[in-house]
Amino acid sequence: MKQQKMLIPTLREVPSDAEVASHKLMLRAGLIRQLASGVYSYLPLGYKVLKKVEAIVREEMDKSGAQEILTSAIQPAELWKKSGRWDAYGPELMRLQDRHQRDFVLGPTHEEVFTSLMRDEVNSYKKLPVNLYQIQTKYRDERRPRFGVIRAREFIMKDAYSFDTNTDGLDESYKAMYDAYHRIFTRCQLNYRAVEADAGTIGGHGGTHEFMALSEIGEDTIVHCSACGFAANIEKAEVIDLNSGTDTATNANVEPVELVETPNVKTVKEVAEYLGIEAGKVIKTLLYKVDDDIVAVLLSGDDELNEIKLKNLFDAELIELLSDEQVESITGDKPGYVGPINLIDKIKIVADNKIQYADNAVCGANKVDYHYKQVNYPRDFAVEKFADLRNIKEGEPCPKCQAAVSFSQGIEVGHVFKLGTKYSEAMGAKYLDENGSSQLMVMGCYGIGVSRTVAAIVEQHSDENGIVWPKEVAPFQVHVIPVNVKNDKQRELATLIYEQLLAKGIEVLYDDRQERAGVKFKDADLIGIPIRVVVGAKADEGIVELKLRTTGASRDVSIDDIISDIL
Ligand code: ATP
Ligand code: MG
Ligand code: MG
Ligand code: MG
Repeated sequence: MKQQKMLIPTLREVPSDAEVASHKLMLRAGLIRQLASGVYSYLPLGYKVLKKVEAIVREEMDKSGAQEILTSAIQPAELWKKSGRWDAYGPELMRLQDRHQRDFVLGPTHEEVFTSLMRDEVNSYKKLPVNLYQIQTKYRDERRPRFGVIRAREFIMKDAYSFDTNTDGLDESYKAMYDAYHRIFTRCQLNYRAVEADAGTIGGHGGTHEFMALSEIGEDTIVHCSACGFAANIEKAEVIDLNSGTDTATNANVEPVELVETPNVKTVKEVAEYLGIEAGKVIKTLLYKVDDDIVAVLLSGDDELNEIKLKNLFDAELIELLSDEQVESITGDKPGYVGPINLIDKIKIVADNKIQYADNAVCGANKVDYHYKQVNYPRDFAVEKFADLRNIKEGEPCPKCQAAVSFSQGIEVGHVFKLGTKYSEAMGAKYLDENGSSQLMVMGCYGIGVSRTVAAIVEQHSDENGIVWPKEVAPFQVHVIPVNVKNDKQRELATLIYEQLLAKGIEVLYDDRQERAGVKFKDADLIGIPIRVVVGAKADEGIVELKLRTTGASRDVSIDDIISDIL
């Protein structure tokens, strides 16, 4: 590609609202331009890099067995009403109407679309598991768009949704995505860390992980233990007022949880204090009957002794020991982190002490004889999920192994999540099992901020002069620069090298502009192509300069060797 004609509008100055390096550099190097707050156009160089990252994502997704599709950004409101998110998602959801006043949304994510597609198209276990993905434009009316494409209102996401027949299958699908994400971010040359996105997984289940590109400008805080490898996002540990009615995921106003009197039920704190154990560190779950209520108690420590103590505390009858699977099927969550759980409204006793699980979870509040109603996971459990980590400080003992933890900031570039049956239930996505009985599909969802990843790469790969692209995502591999294009010898030699490299299939940018050498070099540093070939005064002797953007190291190379040196 010849630079003279290419749209690379480099800038010396940037608008003052560009606070962070990647935002400044992406503007200065002519990769992006802002169209509206949080809405950007990708110019030729920026779009090339975006496509490189997309290609990496696509290759690794395909390798993992996922299938690419493409769905619309416009989604009918009915789907969102069905899942309940039309009301729950709040102002971050961009809504619009067609000429017939029918409601639509511009999709911020696509659980509803993929789940309803699967509901309509797959109805047998023989067709499962399936993992579908797309690389597509998402819309979120972020409260505070900032940092350029890092927090945009329109952005490119790779979103994938897996559908399995059971939770073991989900675990496998999840693992395949988790591994693929490691390959993707490694290939993008990101310094990143996979972190547990909820502290309940300290117990080991791992229901959700975020992939964090380490960076001072990251909005998430990561606690990390180098001794045992434990890492978690503690940003989620912020104290949430359960009665404020704000959805922490979306900042939306939602129907507030309600505090209700439940005199027969002990809070977990009470139970824990009574037993002398730490709340939330769970070994097993017991179901007790207290008068007419059923109470689930999470138990740890000396099991047998505690069982006896609990009987006394509640003056209760032990009904059932719940398995992890049962807890999961009642709460929709992995067991182990809910802490102040009891499930009275979820559980009804039917004949013969058989237990039936109802809707409407109630969870414990830190107020004696009270519980919260209309609790919604993960919205309202964020506090408890990170209860252990909330006040942890640099150098304090790791919750897993007691070694000293350290802190860092991260940019969330990817997120993998075990959804379970939340959406398949809401949307009615079922299949027939081997016995011909109808079952809910078990789902996972997996996102990568493709455009955010580009910015995260720039954030990590730059110096005072500009971007330093890692090879695999660079817009071009080689930048050929004749110092003076008016000099026939230099121009001829540069053109020859350019054409030979093109013939070898190398992506080359040829700076054929009639600019001063200083301007060209400054632009070249800013644009950050990995290898630079400078054709200058020694062109007469058949010598050119080969310079690496990473180290700045340069050496003279004979024209006879230049192509093989680059290859
Ligand atoms: P954040 O915590 O930064 O708001 P999120 O948790 O809301 O992100 P997810 O719903 O997990 O985002 O979406 C999957 C991925 O999409 C994120 O991991 C992130 O890389 C990307 N992403 C989310 N919101 C934005 C945005 N406003 N602009 C660019 N990328 C985004
Ligand atoms: Mg968000
Ligand atoms: Mg997040
Ligand atoms: Mg996320």
